[in-house]
Amino acid sequence: MNRTLILASNNAGKLKEFSEMLAPIGFDVRPQGEFQVPEADEPHPTFVENALAKARHAARLTGLPALADDSGVCVNALGGAPGVYSARYAGEPKSDARNNQKLVADLAIHADKSGYYYCVLVFVRHADDPQPVIAEGRWDGEIIAEPRGQGGFGYDPHFLLPALGKTAAELSPAEKNRLSHRGQALRLLVEKLR
Ligand code: IMP
Repeated sequence: MNRTLILASNNAGKLKEFSEMLAPIGFDVRPQGEFQVPEADEPHPTFVENALAKARHAARLTGLPALADDSGVCVNALGGAPGVYSARYAGEPKSDARNNQKLVADLAIHADKSGYYYCVLVFVRHADDPQPVIAEGRWDGEIIAEPRGQGGFGYDPHFLLPALGKTAAELSPAEKNRLSHRGQALRLLVEKLR
């Protein structure tokens, strides 16, 4: 019988992606909302601290193993911004359109448009697990001023993969999973948990 694993997110896309990869190695991935777990705060300046806080919070409230992710886009000329603030770069209420506008405007004076998506996954066996299982992924690209493509979400229409001549929003979901920061981190996590 599969072991229940709490996903510290209620995002349906993530639930599907994570379930598909983790069911074959014996996990029944359930969203935290099913267990009445409210969203945890993400007050930390690093991705890994935020993911760990979310995983611990879900494990503490359910008594079950938990998995959390944290991700964002880091732009080199901006010292790694938006980074952990990616979802709300242009403030509240969060808006992909305003975030993208702000990112393009902030980069306008810089010649270096390079950046990368980053994702970290943290798995805890229980809330006080002294040795969380951590997997990272990184996907390099360039920020372009004019959006291209209809797929993906967030910064994808402005995130160009120079080797492919396409933005992340111009990739099929399968192609994006194969290449992306989240896909890389998830495959690494599966290897570690196996
Ligand atoms: P979260 O980790 O799901 O909260 O994502 C944080 C934010 O990073 C998102 O709201 C997006 O703005 C950005 N982000 C993370 N991954 C991606 C991606 O694959 N494409 C586009 N934007 C992303």
